[in-house]
Parts: sequence; C-alpha cells; structure tokens
Amino acid sequence: MSGTPVVCAKCKVQVVVTPDPKPDDRVTCSTCGDSETFQDFERSLGEQVKEHAQAKLEASFKGLKGWSYTKGSRSQSVHRFIVKLD
Ligand SMILES: [Zn+2]
Repeated sequence: MSGTPVVCAKCKVQVVVTPDPKPDDRVTCSTCGDSETFQDFERSLGEQVKEHAQAKLEASFKGLKGWSYTKGSRSQSVHRFIVKLD
C-alpha cells in the first residue's frame, strides 16, 4: 500500500503516514489535528478495501440479464482517514 494517498475525511487533505509505522504510532491530519493510532487506521483501511472490492463486484454484475442483486444492510462505517482506491 506504499504510495497510496491517504486523505483526511473532514479536510480532504493528504495525510502523511510514517513509513514502517508501529501500531502505537499516530496518523495525524496536519490541518484539523484529527488522529488515530496506526492500529485503528489499519483496521479502517482493511474495511475500506473490502467495501471497495464489494462495490466493484456489484458494479460488474450490474446490467447482467437475469441477475438480481438485493442490497443487504451493509454496515457503512465512518472512517477518519480515507484511502484513495482506484
Ligand atoms: Zn483533517
């Protein structure tokens, strides 16, 4: 994930993540000062990757004949920092 831009959810400002961070290191927005530990950030990142993959899958099934997709009650978690996935 190196080189993946991470932005603050509030300010949309790119946040610098320490290279080789420890779980206790904090990811901090230099604009609003919002921060979380890298451990929390990593968890949030994992959720975002999962949601992203799911959204892509749904998109690829869209328009397929005979395919109906019922949107479940997918929990949308709030992320403090957003990872820019393609
Ligand atoms: Zn911010």
